[in-house]
Amino acid sequence: MHNGEVSYWWQARGLPPRRPALPGGTDADVCIVGAGYTGLWTAYYLKRADPALRVVMLEAEFAGYGASGRNGGWVTAALPGSRSRYAAHPRGAQGVRDLERHLRETVNEVARICAAEGIDAGLVKGGTLSVATSAAQDARLRQQLVAERSWGNDETIVRYLGKEELAGRLKVAGAVGALYSPDCARVQPANLVAGLAEAVTRSGVLLYEGTPVASITPGFARTPGGDVRAPIVLRCTEGFTAELPGQHRTLLPMNSSMIVTGPLSSDAWRSIGWDGCETLGDEAHAYMYAQRTVDGRIALGGRGIPYRFGSGLDHDGVIPPSTIAQLGRILRRMFPVATEAGIEHAWCGVLGVPRDWCATVMMDPRTGLGWAGGYTGHGVAAANLAGRTLADLVRGVSSPLTALPWVGHPSPRWEPEPLRWAGVHSLYALYRTADRLEGAGRSPRTSLLARAGDLISGIPH
Ligand SMILES: Cc1cc2nc3c(=O)[nH]c(=O)nc-3n(C[C@H](O)[C@H](O)[C@H](O)COP(=O)(O)OP(=O)(O)OC[C@H]3O[C@@H](n4cnc5c(N)ncnc54)[C@H](O)[C@@H]3O)c2cc1C
Repeated sequence: MHNGEVSYWWQARGLPPRRPALPGGTDADVCIVGAGYTGLWTAYYLKRADPALRVVMLEAEFAGYGASGRNGGWVTAALPGSRSRYAAHPRGAQGVRDLERHLRETVNEVARICAAEGIDAGLVKGGTLSVATSAAQDARLRQQLVAERSWGNDETIVRYLGKEELAGRLKVAGAVGALYSPDCARVQPANLVAGLAEAVTRSGVLLYEGTPVASITPGFARTPGGDVRAPIVLRCTEGFTAELPGQHRTLLPMNSSMIVTGPLSSDAWRSIGWDGCETLGDEAHAYMYAQRTVDGRIALGGRGIPYRFGSGLDHDGVIPPSTIAQLGRILRRMFPVATEAGIEHAWCGVLGVPRDWCATVMMDPRTGLGWAGGYTGHGVAAANLAGRTLADLVRGVSSPLTALPWVGHPSPRWEPEPLRWAGVHSLYALYRTADRLEGAGRSPRTSLLARAGDLISGIPH
């Protein structure tokens, strides 16, 4: 079994040859630090809006080395933050509704660009299913549905599926019901990011790899091989942000881990179904997420070890055997027939979590510094919307996107260690206890346990 090696997604398509590193100091109109979805989409839309712009991208490893080449492949319209917190923006609830509508449209925008640029990302817009496998989880689904309706989201946006209707799409052992939303697509993440990087370089963006940026200051991105001087410098480093000077407490690098099975037999697929390629999650507190891959496997993820002391990062995605075993148990419980296919690869990556769990798109015209991220695990579609928004902000264009409530959203900083480590680990200890009790049919106090975890961590409801 492979462990790490960046991700199964990259191993399946082959790690890319490196593009050249920055050869020395240079000037640009816009310098983008980090070549994941956020940086690449920003570059893509900037060049389309103004082909004359000199855009330089600096990437420490290679385009898609981070979460963008390792994720669960959900192009999801899920809000990367809390409705009530975004509603504190002057545009109030209407601003939140607009942000959610733009996110839903973004799923189609990603599909449109894939088609236009010839990016074969295995994109299928089959929607997303959130299943309940206990009475307590089912109760949470129904509460969520009430909340959705109170925000004006009708049956076309989200609806409840009973056990039988769910089984007609996908058979998950022990499932009692699900919420279904059509606004999600499945992709092979590395194919998406690699295709996007090619589209961006085709458009004339200079993308330098193997070029770690040591610091960002107004007008400069400094690297060991020379500085890029640019009036606009954009930080698009999400889960890696804590490594940059002055940013240690901006975004917490939250770890997420994945496994992928070998290809399932056609008998196994016949018994599971899943012909619509919906993305799949559950309603556990320490939730799982999964997809049917383009090559006939199940890729499944969950939290594993959520956070490393001092905002430490992983080494090319290697995960401990205990996390592989934990994810394997979820796989066997939900899909007993998948056991025959075995687990072929495991890996992890980091995503960025702000203290209030709400993503931000930011541009300070006084300093020329901007950034976007903190998508809290919902970054695949959100990075496209953030990239389009940053492109408008950089060009000083006022648009419906620049009026969305995540633009300029201020999140507090994280506590220093060891409080940060203790907080995240207590949260997940409480979540796991709550999930264990619910699995054993004991639920009355589990919501209190989970709520205590939410209060510690600041997770909104
Ligand atoms: C395992 C996992 C599963 C996930 N599943 C989903 C999902 O299914 N759906 C979803 O919506 N979201 C998911 N996410 C979150 C999503 O993948 C991320 O939010 C998104 O990819 C962030 O993109 P980004 O470009 O902002 O950051 P990244 O993709 O992390 O890119 C940042 C880039 O910056 C580079 N970099 C960092 N520091 C420097 C520096 N100093 N100098 C130069 N370059 C630097 C890194 O090498 C990296 O390439 C998941 C994340 C993980 C880890």
